[in-house]
Amino acid sequence: MKLAIVIPCFNEEEVFSESVKQFTALVQRMVDLGKVSDDSHITFVDDGSRDSTWALIDAESRINRRVRGIKLTRNRGHQNAVLAGLLSVDGDAIVTIDADLQDDISAIERMVDEHAAGCDIVYGVRSDRTSDTLFKRQTATSFYRLLALMGIETIHNHADFRLMSRRAVECLREFPESNVYLRGLIPLIGFRSTSVMYERKERFAGESKYPIGKMLALAFEAITSFSTAPLKAISVIGTAIFLLAMVMLGWALWVAILTDRAVPGWTSTLIPVLFLGGMQILILGIIGSYLGKVYGEVKRRPRFQIEKTSRETDSARSTVP
Ligand code: UDP
Ligand code: MG
Repeated sequence: MKLAIVIPCFNEEEVFSESVKQFTALVQRMVDLGKVSDDSHITFVDDGSRDSTWALIDAESRINRRVRGIKLTRNRGHQNAVLAGLLSVDGDAIVTIDADLQDDISAIERMVDEHAAGCDIVYGVRSDRTSDTLFKRQTATSFYRLLALMGIETIHNHADFRLMSRRAVECLREFPESNVYLRGLIPLIGFRSTSVMYERKERFAGESKYPIGKMLALAFEAITSFSTAPLKAISVIGTAIFLLAMVMLGWALWVAILTDRAVPGWTSTLIPVLFLGGMQILILGIIGSYLGKVYGEVKRRPRFQIEKTSRETDSARSTVP
């Protein structure tokens, strides 16, 4: 079984050398144990890093026969970088994992065992997230709850650390959407799947490349790509407001006809006006964000573009005297 490990990297010069050391040792160990074939390899996808990450990948690929590199033309984000790797490498099973060694790499061995036992997709699930900040853990929990509420199928506490068989990756190729949220797409593929548990550790070095803005963008992507629940909620809110208006109308008529008092105050007029105005703008925003997504999708722009691969650089060099 030929194993390919795909590792997206964005400004990871601080962790690269340790990362490559550990992954190479892991693959060697599995080769020695006869679990994977000797042509198994590790592909680092440089997601438009602005530091020396690509230079390090390129240099390593010359001295380490297991290491390959793919350089994207610019930063396209973690999901697209993972996708670029998945769709570009060969291998019977492909594992995707972050570069920063937060995910226990020894879980890869267990993933390979599960694959050998007949699973096409093996999800890495974090059994312990105490090394993540409290904020990150809490936002993650609320996010999973929200997804469940909207009927989106995801694996709780699974990020993009997983093994996929060749045929599962080929199925992924048939999902042409421009905005990818792999954690939502991959369960849609089907096949037999399972999970392996592992402990989430601290980042080996450097700082998170996933600031709050990118996290929110990913959460937005997850919801709008897999659910129209927000659009349906609009009808529910509309109905509720309509019923409320009917109650108020009944009350106003009752005061006007059956009592000798007048309907009191400006407040009772202004509050519904402001409330409805605000609600309409919010709702237009929700509809607009879906429209924006449709706009983005119909353009069919490429999800990533590859500038070069370490192999190409080698062949280019060999033709230069
Ligand atoms: N990453 C990437 N492109 C980006 C941001 C991140 O390829 O635009 C990579 C990054 O190099 C790392 C992985 O995605 O290998 C996960 O990022 P990070 O560890 O910073 O996220 P966190 O673990 O803090 O959620
Ligand atoms: Mg990390």
